[in-house]
Amino acid sequence: MNVTLPEIDRLKLAETDKTKSVTILGSTGSIGCNTLDLVSRDREKFTLKALTANKNVAKLAEQAIEFDAELAVIADDRLLGALKEALSGSDVRAAAGESGLNEAANMDADWVMSSIVGAAGLKPTLTAVRRGATIALANKECLVCAGGFMMEQVKDYGATILPVDSEHNAIFQIFDFEHPETIDKITLTASGGPFWNTNVAKLADITPQQAVNHPNWSMGAKISVDSATMMNKGLELIEAYYLFPVGKEQLDILIHPQSIIHSMVSYVDGSVLAQLGTPDMRTPISYALGWPDRMETPCKKLDLAEIGNLSFVKPDDEHFPSLKITREVLQNGGSAPTILNASNEVAVYAFLEGKIGFLDIAKIVEKTLTKLSFHKVTSLDDVHEVDEHARHAALELVTGMSK
Ligand code: NDP
Repeated sequence: MNVTLPEIDRLKLAETDKTKSVTILGSTGSIGCNTLDLVSRDREKFTLKALTANKNVAKLAEQAIEFDAELAVIADDRLLGALKEALSGSDVRAAAGESGLNEAANMDADWVMSSIVGAAGLKPTLTAVRRGATIALANKECLVCAGGFMMEQVKDYGATILPVDSEHNAIFQIFDFEHPETIDKITLTASGGPFWNTNVAKLADITPQQAVNHPNWSMGAKISVDSATMMNKGLELIEAYYLFPVGKEQLDILIHPQSIIHSMVSYVDGSVLAQLGTPDMRTPISYALGWPDRMETPCKKLDLAEIGNLSFVKPDDEHFPSLKITREVLQNGGSAPTILNASNEVAVYAFLEGKIGFLDIAKIVEKTLTKLSFHKVTSLDDVHEVDEHARHAALELVTGMSK
C-alpha cells in the first residue's frame, strides 16, 4: 500500500510559472499523440525536451521537428541512420537504443509522460523516477510488473506520480488522501469492451479485428485487446492497489458500458464520489499535464440528458476469466503480477498475429502462472529475469496451441 499524494507547492510553481518542459516516452502512440495534441493547443506554455518511439521514424521525426524538440530517440537502434536522415536540416538531435531512451528519461524535463507500451516502458520510467521527476504514468505495466519496487523507488527518490489511466486519474481526483481511513472502497468502472454481452459460446470465434474495435475508446491494439478480455481491468486493479492507500479487499470492478463514470470512491458515511466525463483520454492527460491546475481541452462536454441512461452490470468470471486470475495474482503478490503481465503480452500479440484464439489468451496466462513459482521482486534485474522466464514459458504454450 502506498500513498502517492504529491506535495503541492503552488508558491514554488508560481515562481517558475514560465513554461513547462515536457518529455514524452512513447510519443508516436495513442497517448503520446493525444498529449502532443494538448501541447499544440497552448504552445506558449510548453517546450519539448525529448520524444521517443520504437520504430516509427517518420512520425517521430515529424513530431520532433514540429514541436522543436531537443532530442528524438528511436528505440530500435538499427533505425538511427533513418532517423538522422529524417531530421536533417533541423536542430533536433537523434539518438537510439536503450542508452537513447535512458538519455531522454534523464533530461531535466519538468514533466515526463510515460507512455511506452508494455514492459519496455519500465527502465526509462525508472530512470525518470530516479531523478525525482514528475511523471504522468500511462504505462500500467510499470506498476503491474514492479509495483512494490517502483513505488519504493518513487518514495526514495522523491518522484511524483500522476496517474493517467482514466480510472486511476478519476480516483486521483476524488480520493481524500488526507483521510484514507474514511474510504470504504474504490470501484473501477469498466466499459466491458466489445463483448461484455456477447454469448460466452461465441467468444471462441472472436477475430483480432473484432477485438480491437472498442465501442467507446480509441486506443492502441494491445490495450484494446486487453479491454476485450477485461485483462485491462485486472491490470488496473493491481495498478490501483499500488497507487492508492487501500486494502486489496477494498477494490471493486463494475461494468458500465457507457464509459461516462470513470471510477468511484465510496466513503464510510455512505457518500460515493465519482468523476464523470465523455470518454476521451485528453481529459485525464490534461489533468496530469496541467496539474496542479486544470487546463481547457477540446473534449466534447458531457450532456447527461443527451445520454439519458447510465447502466451497470456486475462482471462474471465465466465471461471474463482474466478477472479471477488477476484477483488471485494480486493476493499472491511478489513476482506473480510480473508473470501475469509478460504472459498476457505474449498471448495478446500471438492472438493479434492470428496464432491463437481469443479464449486462449487467458488460458496461456493461467497456465504460465501455474508453471512458474513466485518470489518477492527486489530489483529491476529481478523483474526482467522473471519477465523473460514468463515470456519463454508463454511462448512455448503459444507454439503448442498455434492454429
Ligand atoms: P500505442 O501502442 O499506441 O503506443 C506505444 C508507444 O510506445 C509508441 O510510441 C511506440 O513506438 C512505443 N513503443 C512500443 N514498443 C516500444 C519499445 N519496445 N521500446 C520503446 N518504445 C516502444 O500504445 P498506447 O498509447 O495505447 O498505450 C501506451 C501505454 O499507456 C500502455 O501501457 C497502455 O496500457 C497505457 N494506456 C493507454 C490508454 C489509451 O487510451 N491508449 C489508456 C490508459 C493507459 P512506435 O510508434 O514506433 O511503435
